[in-house]
Amino acid sequence: MHQNLKAFIIGSGIAGIASAIRLAVQGLRVTVFEKNSIAGGKIDLIEKANYCFDSGPTLFTHPQYIEDLFALTNEKIENYFSYKPVEIACKYFYEDGTVINAYANAEKLKNELEEKTGEPKENIRRYLKSSEKAYNNIGNIFLNYSLHKRKTVRRVAVLKALISIKPSLIFSSLNELNTRSFSKPQTIQLFNRYATYNGSNPYKAPAMLSVIPHLEYNEGIFYPQGGMISIIHSLYRLAVKMGVIFQFNSPVQYIIVHEQMAIGIVVNDENHFSDAVISNGDLYFTYKQLLQDEKKAQKILKQERSSSAIIFYWGMKKEFPQLQLHNIFFSKNYKEEFDFIFKRRQLYHDPTVYINITSKQEPSVHAPLQKENWFVMINVPSSSTQNWNELKRIAKQNIIKKLNRLLQTDIEPFIEIEETADPLTIEANTSSYMGAIYGASSNTRLAAFLRHPNFSRSIKRLYFTGGSVHPGGGVPLCLQSAKIVCDIIGEDKKKWQKEH
Ligand code: FAD
Repeated sequence: MHQNLKAFIIGSGIAGIASAIRLAVQGLRVTVFEKNSIAGGKIDLIEKANYCFDSGPTLFTHPQYIEDLFALTNEKIENYFSYKPVEIACKYFYEDGTVINAYANAEKLKNELEEKTGEPKENIRRYLKSSEKAYNNIGNIFLNYSLHKRKTVRRVAVLKALISIKPSLIFSSLNELNTRSFSKPQTIQLFNRYATYNGSNPYKAPAMLSVIPHLEYNEGIFYPQGGMISIIHSLYRLAVKMGVIFQFNSPVQYIIVHEQMAIGIVVNDENHFSDAVISNGDLYFTYKQLLQDEKKAQKILKQERSSSAIIFYWGMKKEFPQLQLHNIFFSKNYKEEFDFIFKRRQLYHDPTVYINITSKQEPSVHAPLQKENWFVMINVPSSSTQNWNELKRIAKQNIIKKLNRLLQTDIEPFIEIEETADPLTIEANTSSYMGAIYGASSNTRLAAFLRHPNFSRSIKRLYFTGGSVHPGGGVPLCLQSAKIVCDIIGEDKKKWQKEH
């Protein structure tokens, strides 16, 4: 038994909470130090004038990873959390007038794409089949193991999976693969969009990201009852039930390192000692501020940051029956849009607009009856130096112009209340450098394999979990990051007694 071993987690993002639950299950005494007054990090809620909005993530896939946490603890998930499948993964609107309901079901999706765009069903079938194959092969390894441990790479199954990766999945960009796989521009653009799921550029990111559509169209997408925030509320309750202690309003100032071993943290100018320290904060700030290691911090920045976002949270005093839970209004020139975001690092005049409306799922809960809560987001460069107030003003005009055109309605008079977010507020609220939503982007061929390990190579008992380290950003990947780091700690702690 290890009931005397103590772990400190810095940050209560989803990976911090999931790690706390897993370590408590292993018998460690866990304290989570959070600088904010509530848990959740990027998963947060905005409430205003009878409207409420998930302020960060809105798309929920792979609920199995949440089920896994409950299964570990023997607590019944139904006492904490429920979710339901969503029929239409996303509704797509194009400037040429095409409108596609992307059903979260491969069969229905094939029919819809053939009918609306003329894309042969066979092309979709073949693509989703390879997406599934690649996911089952390499995706599973990537999501379940540290790729930085020799032990992992020596496993026969891992070696086989690595050898089986088609070179084209690494050496082609997602756009190159999609252009080869599909004949219609609308389908290519739809499948290129998956690069944005981790804040990347489809014209640069590897074709490996084509594994993501498998999750949506073969496994489905889901809606968590109560919105995304209910994931945090339920996991927080579970963690507390498992004995985890949360200390809010507690910004960690430093990680204490003695003889190349993390032995505790400094909070409110007081030293606290532990057997292990796990940082769930942004990796750049962990090195720069908590470890005062400017050299390593600069090395982190060698990997391009992911995109950030401008978001408008609009209470709309009208229902729009033509919209779904998730909606995309595509830009006319996708390539140019990504050049603006990643090369020029500027706002694009015709942005792809994403609208999420949870009141479609829970009508009177998130918006007053006959009204809707719109989460309206565009991708923008991560940056803390631009004048985001002015850029938000311009973005709002561009978005409204585009929505008016594609919805054939003057929407502005229906905006009853407004809140906003931008790279500066995202950085301030979640300590993500330059407001990058997913830490590093996957804009190079091997980026996915080059994310920072879940442990420190030079400081013993220092670990990392969350969106800026392996396997990457996004709720499902963060949950797996927690699994991977806790598996490593489970192994390492056998050595800790000897090290004392
Ligand atoms: P974070 O959420 O980054 O939280 C880290 C926590 O650490 C914060 O609470 C912070 O306050 C705390 N912290 C940092 N430094 C310190 C310190 N020194 N002391 C104490 N506490 C500290 N993902 C999806 O799956 N689907 C989506 O649709 C989606 N859309 C998104 C939209 C937006 C606008 C944003 C911002 C993100 C989106 N994501 C989406 C990404 C997803 O939200 C993140 O990948 C995930 O929530 C990150 O979790 P994390 O565990 O890395 O921690």
